[in-house]
Amino acid sequence: MNFNNHFLTLNPAFYHCQLPKPLNHAQMMVFNSTLAQQLSKETFSEQQWLELCSGQALPPGAEPLAMKYGGHQFGGWNPELGDGRGLLLGQIIATDDQSYDLHLKGAGQTPYSRHADGRAVLRSSIREFLCSEAMHGLGIATTRALAVTNSQSHVFRETAETGAMLLRVANSHIRFGHFEYFSFNQQHDLLKELLDYTIKQHFPEVTADDYHGFFSAVVSRTAKLIAQWQAQGFCHGVMNTDNMSIIGDTFDYGPFAFLDDYQPGYICNHSDYQGRYAFDRQPAIGMWNLQCLAAAISPLCEPEQLKAALEQYETHLRKHYLQLITHKLGLNINTPEIAPLISGLLNIFTEQKIDYHFFFRKLTLWVEQDLPEAKQASLTLDLENPATLQWLDDYRRAMLEHAIDGTHTTAAAVMAQKNPIYVLRNWYCQQAIEAAEAGDFSVVQQLFEAVSRPFEVRAELSHFSMPPPQQGKHMEISCSS
Ligand code: AMP
Ligand code: MG
Ligand code: MG
Repeated sequence: MNFNNHFLTLNPAFYHCQLPKPLNHAQMMVFNSTLAQQLSKETFSEQQWLELCSGQALPPGAEPLAMKYGGHQFGGWNPELGDGRGLLLGQIIATDDQSYDLHLKGAGQTPYSRHADGRAVLRSSIREFLCSEAMHGLGIATTRALAVTNSQSHVFRETAETGAMLLRVANSHIRFGHFEYFSFNQQHDLLKELLDYTIKQHFPEVTADDYHGFFSAVVSRTAKLIAQWQAQGFCHGVMNTDNMSIIGDTFDYGPFAFLDDYQPGYICNHSDYQGRYAFDRQPAIGMWNLQCLAAAISPLCEPEQLKAALEQYETHLRKHYLQLITHKLGLNINTPEIAPLISGLLNIFTEQKIDYHFFFRKLTLWVEQDLPEAKQASLTLDLENPATLQWLDDYRRAMLEHAIDGTHTTAAAVMAQKNPIYVLRNWYCQQAIEAAEAGDFSVVQQLFEAVSRPFEVRAELSHFSMPPPQQGKHMEISCSS
């Protein structure tokens, strides 16, 4: 492996070097061989991958470190953060010639662990593994996951749980909270060093020293990301600024959820009592977080220019969201009646408690068959309701005039690539976790196969395409992981 750790070229204030502390009797639980092939042309034995992914051995050139950062958590500033249980092992130059961080999560305590144990449990590692690959499958920028290893060591949360590690792969692990920390400490030389490093490593479109250009790029990447979350019904759950990736990846999979029934105010995080991170608040929180970042870099920038960049956020977000939803509906972006069609549909979803993903999939099949009136029932909408009938009429008319690429057939082909069959619903995720905790890893493997290629029909995986039963909808997930 072509390995080094260029984060070490930065001032030591940014990190603490230390080695992973392996768990007992590690075993490979799930391995992403497609990603492994993208990372390296060399072939490694199963034993070598196991040793790397469980912290038992390091590739030559790896120099593990824990990063220091802070963050606004639920609106309050916390300077005490940092990698408390994950280590950046270093970077690999992958087959696409890009540099990827390998980060081992659950690798033991660090100076930033704040009395916690530095470990990760099997449950949360499986969740991150599956969801990062599900997001990637949907075409949403995200950190990836190479593997989860489990162990015979117990880790204590509410009860004793299986200790595990996750090997995360990402272009960058730099968070908004990195900049905030050095700014809050008035360490402006370090802030500048980090900005220069970030621009050089991750923003090829921005010239050195152009901090406004950099901020503008972060604004547009973040806006695009959150537009994708809203369009694909993804609720992050903990949008603290330490969980915001500077490069615009979906980052830190905790109590996330995909929507079942469309509920705009859905709160997936059991500990989010105020609904700060509710589904429909994500766009506003994205803005709040960008304002924190703007404040952090303001010692090196002109306030007017930061303000001008922030003002672009909503425009970017709306533009991307509109484009995504229009494609989910199989319509051209220039459809004049698109705004009322979207708001009308979302109102119907909310009032009739319609399953968001299942509806769009059924709509795709219906458009494919040329919108037969006789099959309207398959759409899962209430056909006794006048608003539904009006919407179907309007949609049919829009499809006649504004179908993507001209016809319902071409529109359906686009829709089939935008409306997933397999969605990582917490209901299925929980079943996979329970099986894995009982020693059966096959459900995790099957669910991984389903969600990593979410648009591809596979009859043997069809059970994952159904909405959950009533008791399995909108589960709330605890933060303790
Ligand atoms: P999160 O809620 O995942 O964003 O984590 C917030 C902070 O707590 C980060 O700085 C983590 O590194 C740290 N942290 C979370 N769980 C643990 C743990 N079990 N041991 C040490 N640090 C942890
Ligand atoms: Mg975090
Ligand atoms: Mg987390």
